[in-house]
Amino acid sequence: MRDKPVETILLSDPSNCKNNRFIGHVHDPIIESKKRLTFAPMAGLYIHIPFCRKACHYCNFHFSTQLKNIQPLVDAICLEIAKEAPQFKHSLRTLYFGGGSPSILSNSQLTQIFEAVAAHFEISQIQEITLEANPEDMIQESLQHWKSLGVNRLSVGIQSLNDDELVWMNRAHTAKQAIESLETAGEIGFNNFSIDLIYGSEKKSLSQWQQELQWVNSIGVNHLSCYALTIEENTPFGKWAKSNKLKTPPDEHAEEQFLYLSQWAAQHNWEHYEISNLSKAGHQAIHNSNYWAGLPYLGIGPSAHSYNGKSRRWNLSNNALYISGIQTGAPTFTEEILTKVDVVNELLLTQLRLTKGVNIQQINLLYPGFEELKRPIIEKLIRNFQIVEHNGHWSIPSAARFLADAITVEMMLDEN
Ligand code: SF4
Repeated sequence: MRDKPVETILLSDPSNCKNNRFIGHVHDPIIESKKRLTFAPMAGLYIHIPFCRKACHYCNFHFSTQLKNIQPLVDAICLEIAKEAPQFKHSLRTLYFGGGSPSILSNSQLTQIFEAVAAHFEISQIQEITLEANPEDMIQESLQHWKSLGVNRLSVGIQSLNDDELVWMNRAHTAKQAIESLETAGEIGFNNFSIDLIYGSEKKSLSQWQQELQWVNSIGVNHLSCYALTIEENTPFGKWAKSNKLKTPPDEHAEEQFLYLSQWAAQHNWEHYEISNLSKAGHQAIHNSNYWAGLPYLGIGPSAHSYNGKSRRWNLSNNALYISGIQTGAPTFTEEILTKVDVVNELLLTQLRLTKGVNIQQINLLYPGFEELKRPIIEKLIRNFQIVEHNGHWSIPSAARFLADAITVEMMLDEN
């Protein structure tokens, strides 16, 4: 059973319903057939759980460490699911729990959300259910529960295997706990992992980075997300940098580690398919790949973003205001109708990060005349080895990928 894809479990093995509350809850043939008539294109559902045990010193995501407020927030999330689902005419292909730290939820709270999803969305075609988990939460009982709900992919925040660096970043776990958490999850039956690592900090030398990547190869994970440490305003690191308590290493430090990552990936059969994401063959993240392909998604929970091809919206990044807004019907999100320029720029921002690059025909269809308008800049970028034109795509070659943001800005359209 552990190796079956989730849709096989969903559709072919009724015995699983006994142990699988999420899947079992929706296995009603009448509801199923009604839903199939109503829903068509596939889409992703993102649920943001804005709580963490500790505030990591580099993090500018939306989260709170006031854990007593988790239950009211979970109730509000379930209400938002019920409110938004009728307008969202898509069958779910992916479900993603991000944060914050979704692994902080109790078993009953996570079940409550799964049941709300199953009650309100068409989920029979779901392929990937990801839960972001921190090592300190990956205890046997929780892992077993996640598995029983149908979670088939864990995205684990490891960040570093150096305890000094973990303490410096204010992470809530040690390197040993991180390694053991993956082992325990494997014993429970999880076999689809992504892990997050941070490179480029003053605490990480090139040789430490090399050792971490060597370890990655030894543990059999099939997806890796690697982020350069960036110092953001309004974080402890940002404040320390401003008052010179934190020295920021030169850009070359992170660039050297990024280039090493690219070489290492090529040598060890990892597809470096997006600037920050690598996978073994067949294990690209489906949920995030859908974002990058410009497919619709719905975001639930404080600070979550949604996109439907025509507009983009984002929920309040304030837990108390979000909860009261959901309860009283007051607005909980801001919406922006996208212009043609916005849609094209968004596509460039996401797809130029992909190894495959951006589809030229798609851009020209969305914005007729794009190619003629941008040809002089494209020619210049090609001469400078910063863009390659190949197979109907513009892409950034791996040696220039560290400059992707600047290259993308040159390719983008002005609003006027
Ligand atoms: S990095 Fe993750 S665990 Fe740390 S504060 Fe940010 S969201 Fe929470």
